[in-house]
Amino acid sequence: MHYVSTRNDTFTCSASEAIIKGLAPDGGLLAPEVFPRLPHNGLETMRDMSYQQRAVYIMNLFLEGFTVAELTRFTREAYGSDHFDHPSIAPLVPLGDGVFCLELWHGPTCAFKDMALQMLPYLLTASLTKNRENKTALILVATSGDTGKAALEGFRDVPRTNILVFYPQNGVSAIQELQMVTQMGKNVAVCAVEGNFDDAQSGVKRIFSSATLREKLTEQGFFLSSANSINWGRLLPQIVYYISAYCDLLREGKISAGNKINVCVPTGNFGNILSAYYAKRMGLPIDRLICASNENNVLTDFIQTGIYDRNRPFHNTISPSMDILVSSNLERLLFALARGRAPEVRAYMESLAETGRYQVRPELFKEIETQFCGGYCNDKNTRLVIRQVWESARYLIDPHTAVAFNVLARYRAETGDRTPTVVVSTASPFKFCDSVLEALGEQNITKGVEVIDQLSQHTGIPAPAPLAALKNSTVRFKGSIAKEDMAEAVLKSLL
Ligand SMILES: *Cc1c(COP(=O)(O)O)cnc(C)c1O
Repeated sequence: MHYVSTRNDTFTCSASEAIIKGLAPDGGLLAPEVFPRLPHNGLETMRDMSYQQRAVYIMNLFLEGFTVAELTRFTREAYGSDHFDHPSIAPLVPLGDGVFCLELWHGPTCAFKDMALQMLPYLLTASLTKNRENKTALILVATSGDTGKAALEGFRDVPRTNILVFYPQNGVSAIQELQMVTQMGKNVAVCAVEGNFDDAQSGVKRIFSSATLREKLTEQGFFLSSANSINWGRLLPQIVYYISAYCDLLREGKISAGNKINVCVPTGNFGNILSAYYAKRMGLPIDRLICASNENNVLTDFIQTGIYDRNRPFHNTISPSMDILVSSNLERLLFALARGRAPEVRAYMESLAETGRYQVRPELFKEIETQFCGGYCNDKNTRLVIRQVWESARYLIDPHTAVAFNVLARYRAETGDRTPTVVVSTASPFKFCDSVLEALGEQNITKGVEVIDQLSQHTGIPAPAPLAALKNSTVRFKGSIAKEDMAEAVLKSLL
């Protein structure tokens, strides 16, 4: 099976090339040429498998050129008990009323990014070998929080890779910063940039397009690579947990074979919910895909009108990982819905680049309307939901997950649709202690890492071990650099 560019489907490459490249040469994203169907007894077969075995079964359908033995090793290591603190890896918690919460934050950095970033290094290093690339991959990441730490933890001490993460000096939470600057590993570097997230991101883009820097890196045996969410190696591992959740529902007798479910996903860059759509295209019985946004509700409007318009104010919210106005992975949905009509997708993307806006064809909009449903939630209601869910079910959720719960509640009230629903939980509440404590009504919120203990005492829930350990960890990366000096920092990191 080959991968094609969403903007030019005459460009094709293999799975391993797609993982190395990240982007197509024309700026498009790489997408599967066809969707493999789940074998007709596939869900039955996977019902009694472990998460790791299910991951092998599903990824194997997409990765021509990789052996089952390889994938078995990757999944055993990526989803081992030394990295995940729950034996089910992605446990499904029943909350009554046909609502099930899929907890995707049991990995080393306590956010759902671990589900993919624990696997990506294995896929990438194997792809390098398959393509006889003998230079070392230098992975550059600009992060607004969760991605940086998850990428550092995934690539730590992985042979033939180096990773350098840039974060905005005053643009991440105290806990997120501490998670990054205390990162262990011989091949990692972390650098605070004096500026905001856009400065860090533009800096990385400039580095990628600098021919002189590339030349210098090549001389020293390196090439640039990226770990951001448009890489196919990050989307593929995410398809697994939707199928796995369905298998768990079957195994627990919550649904019967063939029954449809809905999924509700807190969405930013559209990667997570796109993986659910891909699972549906493979034959997983999903009915509605409910796309939950915060006040940056560009996707809600798109799903309701067929018009994507980023010309609107940007809001800083208490669910910061969803503060996004251009959801890059939406391009792959358009490509899949347009049944591979790449020129159409290219025209939408050109319009987005030129005017910040595009409107999809009526036929395409109709498909979006029948399969998706969009809603959004402001900070006040996000806090309210955290409190309600805690008081009614003694179940603690983070602000991103709370956005999804709010949107689902309103969807159910408006439509009367009672289909069993998987709500995706994307972060541990202990990653966002301040907002969660505030939602629970705490008046005096502690500054610094001690806030983790405070949330733990307030709720009686122990903090995840990696976050609890932050108190005693040593800062390795200090100081900051001007945004003009990022290229220099790249070269220095190699010494
Ligand atoms: C990244 C992130 C999201 C958004 O996921 P997308 O795949 O970008 O839609 C939601 N919640 C948390 C906690 C995240 O880290």
